[in-house]
Amino acid sequence: MKTLHKFHGGVHPPTHKAESTRTPIARLPMPAKLVIPFHQHVGNIAKPLVQVGDYVLKGQLIGLPEDGISSAIHASTSGTISAIGMAVVAHASGLPDLCATLIPDGKDEWIARETTDYRNANPEQVRLVLRMAGVVGLGGAVFPSDLKLRIGKHAIKTLVINGAECEPYITCDDMLMRERAEEIIKGAEIMRWALAAEEILIGIEDNKPEAILAMQIAARASSDNIAVIAVPTLYPGGGAKQLIRVLTGIEVAAGVRSTDKGVQCFNVATAQSIYRALHHGEPLVARIVTVTGNVKNAQNLEVLIGTPVRDLLNFAHALPDTDSSIMGGPMMGLPLPNSDVSIVKAANCIIASSPKLFPPAPPAMPCIRCTRCADVCPAELQPQDLYWFAKAKDFGKAQEFNLFDCIECGACSYVCPSSIPLVQYYRFAKSEIWARETEKNSADAARERFEFREYRTEREKIEKAEKLAAKEKAAAAAKIEAAKVAATQPATAAEVTAPQDDAQAKIQAAIAHAQQQAAAIKPKNTEQLTPQQQAEIADIEARRARIHELAATDVEVPKE
Ligand code: SF4
Ligand code: SF4
Repeated sequence: MKTLHKFHGGVHPPTHKAESTRTPIARLPMPAKLVIPFHQHVGNIAKPLVQVGDYVLKGQLIGLPEDGISSAIHASTSGTISAIGMAVVAHASGLPDLCATLIPDGKDEWIARETTDYRNANPEQVRLVLRMAGVVGLGGAVFPSDLKLRIGKHAIKTLVINGAECEPYITCDDMLMRERAEEIIKGAEIMRWALAAEEILIGIEDNKPEAILAMQIAARASSDNIAVIAVPTLYPGGGAKQLIRVLTGIEVAAGVRSTDKGVQCFNVATAQSIYRALHHGEPLVARIVTVTGNVKNAQNLEVLIGTPVRDLLNFAHALPDTDSSIMGGPMMGLPLPNSDVSIVKAANCIIASSPKLFPPAPPAMPCIRCTRCADVCPAELQPQDLYWFAKAKDFGKAQEFNLFDCIECGACSYVCPSSIPLVQYYRFAKSEIWARETEKNSADAARERFEFREYRTEREKIEKAEKLAAKEKAAAAAKIEAAKVAATQPATAAEVTAPQDDAQAKIQAAIAHAQQQAAAIKPKNTEQLTPQQQAEIADIEARRARIHELAATDVEVPKE
């Protein structure tokens, strides 16, 4: 029996999970069009590989991962690309993003799929397959999974698979575990192999007995060292740090990564998509989405990425008074700008909203310093202080009080007797800080570019000075030679030394000039310069060194 641990705080909001778990996962009929964003993951946007008019097959790569943190994007079905352009997407910024519009041909015809037996591959090959399959964290973070499977400085002992699904209304992971437990376990085994982890701990909240049973049966049929553990139902117990704390007792402190403590954490749906990518050669083109709230038939649907939210609401029979929808849960979800936006990889749930279901919050009252918010905060913050700092735009102080450790779980807002929308204040403060940092970085980059231009101009001056120094030196050497010859002839001492002194003075003047030029402005910080610019700087430095060399190896003027 595994000993469980507690995390600080937590709340018990009504779960509303029963409504959408009465029927098995259904497949949504083929939409009339799909709008597929090229940026559905943390990191760089994928580079479009298709053009308007192209015919594509299901699973065909349409967006190539860019360098660094990025992931691939695929056609979710077969059909024709009808547009590539900006469209409103489901994102907190509310800004449009680059999307491909795909008109399905109804055949749903796959590309040729190549399977990979991970046991005959090496971890790097497996990571490449996952990168090109567009597998990202499906618990909401959408971080590219291939990067999370890299072994860093610290060995990973424990792989935690997150099946907690603590947020009210959302049941897609619950239904996935009930119906596809075997695929999740096989995906977890691939991850354990890639990370060389010793054990797999699968945490599921104890309000999902069917999922726990299905996962235990699948785990027993699999290899050793996989434990399926029921954890207490307590929001936000599905946060990675909270679940790791409950399962292992390890406290992942502020600014520390769980991998520094030998633990890596993945969502159950991510594990299943890893299995599909390797065993079936299927890129991530669909996901399970809970459609619930103000609908007649709350349920879980298998939905192609790019499907308009409107299609899901219509299929589930949204009630007439539905006035908006939320992507995610009521605690951490994102209000959608309209129902034309499409399902992305992060979309685990769509809640149809109505004024009756979610009545407007009462007006916010002054903070009475009751500290209830601090009592429930899983990050052990002082939410009331963060609120004051954010309200006063004292962002420095907010950072000092660990604003960025806030996981925006909303537990503080949930218990606040003054109905203060605390999380909105934290989001505002974070976005302001990011905006200022972005602005500062842009200004720094502009200054460095300016300094580099100045530096390049100086290089030309240095080159001229260098040539002049060499020329003067050659002329001086010639004069000295001539003086030597002349010295063999009868002449006065003054006639011999005068040209020598004159030549030496010219050399020194030229070298001094060159050295002066060589001390010209140099960019202070070259980190943001391009490799070509950095090469130019190296070239200039080499030239300076040569000038100094010239100075050091001055022509020796023979003395009488
Ligand atoms: S719960 Fe609300 S009223 Fe109480 S201290 Fe926190 S912010 Fe203030
Ligand atoms: S939203 Fe942030 S401050 Fe509030 S309880 Fe959650 S982690 Fe704490």
